[in-house]
Amino acid sequence: MQYASKMIILYGLAFFLSFYGMRLIHHFSNEKRYRNALLSGLIMGSVQSLLVILVHLSELVGMPDARFLIIGYTTFFYGPFAGIIAGFISSIVICIVNGTILWSLLLIQLINIGLYSLAYFYMHRKLKTPKYIEITLFVIITSSVVIFLASLIASDNTSYLLSLSYLPYLFVFASMLMCALLGISYQDKENQEFIRTLNVHSEELSLKNAEIEVLYSQASDQQLRLQDNLRKMIDYQERIEFLAYHDSQTGFYNREKLFDRLRHSRSEDLGCLGVMLLIGIKDSDKIEVSLGNVLIETLYYLVGIEIMSFFETISGGQMYSIGKGRYVILFNDDYENKEIIDVYRKLSERFVASIKINTIEMKINIIAGAINFTNETLEPEQWMEKCEFAMFDSGKMKGSNRITWFGQELLERHARELQMEKSLYRAIENQELYLMYQPQFNNNQVMCGAEALLRWRHPQMGEIPPGIFIPIAERNGLIDDIGKLVIQSACRYIYTNRSLFDHSAIHIPIAVNASFLELINPNFTERFLEILSQNEISTDQIKVEVTESEVSLHYSDLLQNLRLLFSSGIGVELDDFGTGYSSLNHLGIMPVQTIKIDKVFIDRILEDEKIGDLVEMIIDFTHRFRMKVVAEGVETKEQFLWLKQKKCDVYQGYYFSKPIREEQFSALIEGLIAENGNVDAEENS
Ligand code: C2E
Ligand code: MG
Ligand code: MG
Repeated sequence: MQYASKMIILYGLAFFLSFYGMRLIHHFSNEKRYRNALLSGLIMGSVQSLLVILVHLSELVGMPDARFLIIGYTTFFYGPFAGIIAGFISSIVICIVNGTILWSLLLIQLINIGLYSLAYFYMHRKLKTPKYIEITLFVIITSSVVIFLASLIASDNTSYLLSLSYLPYLFVFASMLMCALLGISYQDKENQEFIRTLNVHSEELSLKNAEIEVLYSQASDQQLRLQDNLRKMIDYQERIEFLAYHDSQTGFYNREKLFDRLRHSRSEDLGCLGVMLLIGIKDSDKIEVSLGNVLIETLYYLVGIEIMSFFETISGGQMYSIGKGRYVILFNDDYENKEIIDVYRKLSERFVASIKINTIEMKINIIAGAINFTNETLEPEQWMEKCEFAMFDSGKMKGSNRITWFGQELLERHARELQMEKSLYRAIENQELYLMYQPQFNNNQVMCGAEALLRWRHPQMGEIPPGIFIPIAERNGLIDDIGKLVIQSACRYIYTNRSLFDHSAIHIPIAVNASFLELINPNFTERFLEILSQNEISTDQIKVEVTESEVSLHYSDLLQNLRLLFSSGIGVELDDFGTGYSSLNHLGIMPVQTIKIDKVFIDRILEDEKIGDLVEMIIDFTHRFRMKVVAEGVETKEQFLWLKQKKCDVYQGYYFSKPIREEQFSALIEGLIAENGNVDAEENS
């Protein structure tokens, strides 16, 4: 009894020590609290056990069973399972030492092992609880109870003692459980603290939430604005992409698109591209001056539409507008050059009729340059340059139904022209320029006038036609000197042959051609009259021919000079009528007395009914304005008869005479005088 009371007091002491120790340890172990609590319990339990061992040792010295109890306690540190096995072994050892088999003890250990196993499998495997808690609980409670009951039944001292030895386990477990519960309650407290903090945070969060909502609404406004901007950007992008490949004013494909096509074709199917045809408007720069910037764009648009619709029906080809009234058509290599020339001729016929721009009616001529694509690797700009070169050359030519092809021939001609340009300066000084006279005839085929036509006898190149060197002179500013030379030569000729020209039986006025560049000079008429008076020539003896296209283009500049010429009694003739830009309506207000229908029309009066009608209409109109009509380039009798029937007034052409030298012309006049003299004499007699 004394032993038992000491045991209880010591166990109680150990329990309280461990309890407060655990609380202490637990207090400092903030993290992994639950595990630390168990660990603390384990350590404290061990301390208790050690105390128990020491008590047993001191109290039970000399008692044989004490050794086995110590073994049993020590094995506790190896875990419950090892402890139980150790307990079982120690029971057997006790039996051997006592010399008797203590059946109750063995039975207790067997039940213990069975219960342990059951507890392990049931609680750990099925309930998945932490094994220390359940196993320890089952083993200790059941074995303590079973041993206690067994020792009561067996009245066996050793069993009784052994059952008591299980008590520290119970304390250990109780301590562990306590610690766990304390850990949980501590955690509870912490949880509450945490919940309080959470509430504070939650309030903060709701405040933040309100802020976020404001921000969100701002953001959605921003987003709407962004979407709007994005839409605008896409619109701009599309517009930019459109503009990148289209003319902003007209919507036609532009130069970039053309170059893109050429680049693409060059890398992939250049072979399929046959010809690039560049179409322009003749004298577009001059037209621009007369129409102004706004109307010229309208003209370019109208011309573009005409060309585009024409090629869409004929070749299905696309048209590219590359600016300044220039348009490109690409033909694939199915097209022969001949076919392209034919197609282009048909297109140029579309421009015979005049175009109406606002209230202004004007006739335009198209010009064209073309190039055959070769295997040469050239940049699109280079193909373009060559084509433009050809087109500008065609602009120098009369008429508008031919294409100039870029090639060796053109380059050589151009080189010759450059050479010519250089030698033109010298030509004036060296008197290489001279006049020929082409007689003009009336309906009775009697000579009634003549046109003075300039010739250049080049020492190396031979005879050069004015159609070639006059444009050069216009470009390099020599035209003024040349013009003066022409007027002087004609006047000198008339002066030296005044006996012929002043003869009363005839009146043969000489018409000289004047370039618009001369005529826009305000001093032109004054200078002209001066030369006339120097040579004592009356104003009815000479006429001035001015090209129709130029009159209509530089109308205001020219008008003054034409009026002055007219008021001075000098006749003004509108040359190359039909090839220029004026419409018939303009005739009435032009200070001219005669119009000269261009050879290109006369050439086709018999073949083309439409042209015939047009010429007839021009004659009618001209007569209504009390002007005379000269037909230029009459080459056949049929043409003459047709024109005569339509009441044309004067005829000039190879059918009657080619341009002839002064002497030949003088001889003709002499002949005429003689004829007329005879007629006069006959009449007088
Ligand atoms: P233009 O004033 O219309 O002159 C008529 C042109 O037609 C002349 O060519 C003449 O030889 C040619 N011609 C006349 N009848 C026929 C014909 O039946 N068949 C053919 N095939 N041709 C015919 P030309 O002399 O070569 O002159 C060409 C142009 O050069 C002239 O056309 C005129 O615009 C210009 N020109 C000539 N002389 C002068 C000049 O002194 N000053 C200026 N500024 N230009 C001139
Ligand atoms: Mg002429
Ligand atoms: Mg002419």
